[in-house]
Amino acid sequence: MKIALIAHDKKKSDMVNFSKAYQPILEKHQLFATGTTGQLIMDATGLAIHRFQSGPLGGDQQIGALIANNEMDIVIFFRDPLAAQPHEPDIIALLRLCDVYCIPLATNMGTAEILIRGLEDGKLQWREIINSKPNNND
Ligand code: PGA
Repeated sequence: MKIALIAHDKKKSDMVNFSKAYQPILEKHQLFATGTTGQLIMDATGLAIHRFQSGPLGGDQQIGALIANNEMDIVIFFRDPLAAQPHEPDIIALLRLCDVYCIPLATNMGTAEILIRGLEDGKLQWREIINSKPNNND
């Protein structure tokens, strides 16, 4: 499965802790992240992560493009609900695309834990069926 990991600045330590706690599960999958989040996770865990641009520089939109192409299966996005972000429109667009394409999305630690445990238990196998179908745009 392809998993996107994103965390706003005040949530980055949570994301690093989450990645450490669930490293045995995460390392079985293909990981993607926005620039700074990805670097911090790699430094802390050694996980292999494809890093996009930093969020404010377009990273959220790059991940959104993968969702629109049915090339992302899970998004874990630890948002900061208490601070305005300069790239708010990009964030809203990414969340919207997750809803458009029914991509499992966790925006906080509580849901992320359920999602990652569900993944390990095989509860997201329906994504593999969807992935095996040709893209509607093909
Ligand atoms: P970053 O981007 O991982 O590069 O910090 C995330 C964000 O702040 O949107």
